[in-house]
Amino acid sequence: MKKPPIINWSEKVAEFVEENQGFINICYEALDRHLSTTMRDRPAIRYVDNSWPDKSEAIRDISFIELATETNRFAHALKRLGVAKGEVLFSLCPRVPEFYTVAFGALRAGVVFSPLFSVFGSGPILSRMRKGKGKVLFTLASYYRKKILPIRSSLVDLKYLILLDDDGSLNQIDDAIDFHQLMHDSDPSYIIEKTSPTDPALLHFTSGTTGEPKGAIHVHEAVLYHKFSGLIALDLRPDDLFWCTADPGWVTGTSYGILSPICNGVTLLVDGAEFSAERWYQILTKLNVTNWYTAPTALRMLMRAGSDLARNYNFKNVRYGASVGEPLNPEVIHWVKENLGIEMHDNWWQTETGGILISNYANFPVRPGAMGVPMTGIEIGLVKKVENNNLIFVDRPGEQGEIAVKKGWPSMFVNYLGDPEKYQRCFIDDWYLSGDLAKFDEDGYYWFVGRKDDVIKTSGHLVGPFEIESLLMEHEAVLESAAIGIPDPIAGELIKAFVVVKSDYKKTEELKSKILAYARVRLGVAIAPREIEFVDNLPKTKSGKIMRRLLKARQLGLPEGDLSTLEQPL
Ligand code: ATP
Ligand code: MG
Repeated sequence: MKKPPIINWSEKVAEFVEENQGFINICYEALDRHLSTTMRDRPAIRYVDNSWPDKSEAIRDISFIELATETNRFAHALKRLGVAKGEVLFSLCPRVPEFYTVAFGALRAGVVFSPLFSVFGSGPILSRMRKGKGKVLFTLASYYRKKILPIRSSLVDLKYLILLDDDGSLNQIDDAIDFHQLMHDSDPSYIIEKTSPTDPALLHFTSGTTGEPKGAIHVHEAVLYHKFSGLIALDLRPDDLFWCTADPGWVTGTSYGILSPICNGVTLLVDGAEFSAERWYQILTKLNVTNWYTAPTALRMLMRAGSDLARNYNFKNVRYGASVGEPLNPEVIHWVKENLGIEMHDNWWQTETGGILISNYANFPVRPGAMGVPMTGIEIGLVKKVENNNLIFVDRPGEQGEIAVKKGWPSMFVNYLGDPEKYQRCFIDDWYLSGDLAKFDEDGYYWFVGRKDDVIKTSGHLVGPFEIESLLMEHEAVLESAAIGIPDPIAGELIKAFVVVKSDYKKTEELKSKILAYARVRLGVAIAPREIEFVDNLPKTKSGKIMRRLLKARQLGLPEGDLSTLEQPL
């Protein structure tokens, strides 16, 4: 099995910092570094607002120099207000150009940036901002009135409220600071906080798929890995136009939806509108996207829109497609290849890891169903068991174990907000234990099995829901599915699958029996689902992950737990 070359990351960081006058700051790496090159006047961001394609002025390019100047202004403004290095700025904002000024401006000032998903209601905002002791909030005036006002008195650490006046109500809000006025009055001259490699930079909350969302803290040295991993795993090259469809409210939408392309001098496309299959196809084709980073759930939504729609477009400009967030079913890879002509490269990582750690590469053949191979410089092990605090690793292909990562890569989280004990529990010796199970094959590709919490124990077998769900998707009627284990006195657990069928199929008992029979033949009686329930939608997090724990809780009549990230109440 091929092993990736070892990189001594702490040495690399030390060398880098020494060459860089003793500091490392994400904003400097992303913007300032390009100002003495030909990139200076090229677009860092190509912003497409929701009036596109009807109006041509709906596209706005923001150059590296323009963004750098704006972020200098915002950093000066934060300093003038008295926001100190290490204090936390939360943003609750849709994808508008000002958001990117705020993100980089905060980093420039050494202020910790924490993007909240803009669709959150008051409850999830309150819990996150209280935990993070948010000193500054950047949001829209309309959001303020709807979501913040009801919780304002509980936000005890909030001192500065910076608003974009989207509905003309700002002057009725007592202590609001008008973003545009603040910027207008501020100094555009150069400023950079000389942060150290281990100064906190970003605070990201996990998706809440398995329980209450955790706040993962990342530091400025992470930028070295953001930059490096984008080159390798997303095939970023000069002159590319890169589109990451994840919202910056989630880690993918920041590490790769803001930082990685810009650090690499690649133009980032930002779409201000929400998903529609037609719009996405238009963006990909008419705007000449070269690299596209998305998620399995979005790809399944494109499948739902049908092949006929896809065939109206020619995707030849899209050189590289990649996916993250959930297992990428082989069926989805085949569909995208057949209908869009794009080969999707799956990769694996987590909020905690800050960057891609396992990946299908541009120059290797994609292995459908596999997450890929460990990234260069990243040591991955699969832990079979822990004996007296010693890790016993899987040493042969096909055996499953928990994905563990050797400590020290630069974008590794440095703590869980307010829960250092939980953080400590994630590490044994030099290894970070991820909570996900996988196997590797003879060629060193890793195959996702499931989260430890989701794995089903049935008749002595340990079964990952991904295997069941991917197989079910191969049935012509199945659009997507989720498998859970339900307690059984004999088998331990029996597998139940929740299935969404394609729109041209009727949810009949006969179809259920056919799908069950199909699964029995292909999976074998031991691990085939015993029961199928048709549903219109699967419960998902707002970042698009199937919440199997919720299906299970509802099935068993148990408490539903934290639902702050649930996409839509079912
Ligand atoms: P929480 O930790 O709050 O339960 P979460 O783990 O879903 O939520 P994220 O950090 O956003 O929060 O997601 C990381 C998880 O997503 C991984 O641990 C893994 O389970 C899943 N994942 C990400 N990429 C892949 C992939 N390529 N294949 C399979 N699973 C993936
Ligand atoms: Mg997690």
